[in-house]
Amino acid sequence: MRLVLASNNAKKLGELSAMLEPLGFELVPQGALGVPEAEEPHCTFVENALAKARHAAKLTGLPALADDSGLCVSALGGEPGVHSARYAGEPKSDERNNARLLAELANQTDRRAHYVALLVFVRHADDPQPIIAEGEWHGQVISEARGSGGFGYDPLVLIPELGLTVAEIEADEKNRRSHRGQAMAKLVEKLRQLR
Ligand code: IMP
Repeated sequence: MRLVLASNNAKKLGELSAMLEPLGFELVPQGALGVPEAEEPHCTFVENALAKARHAAKLTGLPALADDSGLCVSALGGEPGVHSARYAGEPKSDERNNARLLAELANQTDRRAHYVALLVFVRHADDPQPIIAEGEWHGQVISEARGSGGFGYDPLVLIPELGLTVAEIEADEKNRRSHRGQAMAKLVEKLRQLR
């Protein structure tokens, strides 16, 4: 079955394809089908992922898969949350986002934070029962960046049980443990049960 991926991120395409091909799905990035990026106006990950999946399904007539993710910080009421990519405004910059996060948490003793990833699959644009999978990865925001791997907030997010920031974890291990990895594994399981 052909499936449109509501993203043009080559890394996401590669990871998802590897997991979904054995189930008989062929993933096509939406850009290859002429689908422009959808709006992400909502205040929850699930609504944004659903909006992206519906948009891609509507314009292609194919089943669609979309994701949305971000970092939720307890002391900030869950921010930056769905605003993670552009927390410090336009143009998007990991460095400025990290600087803003540290500034917001100055003098804050509660450093708990977790990454969230949401995957949504729709069989068609009006699918009344989308398949939804969510992953969470919990850590703490430290005050000085450590490590050079990963991207985004990774140098500031310490995973206490490993004693490492996400930017210090090997890529393969990050993929296995991460919010996205967990959501993907759950989605694959749900799709397997469908068939
Ligand atoms: P997107 O869902 O890929 O657009 O990611 C949204 C934003 O959330 C990214 O731009 C990052 O700021 C943040 N984010 C999501 N996942 C990660 C991660 O694994 N590491 C670091 N930052 C992340």
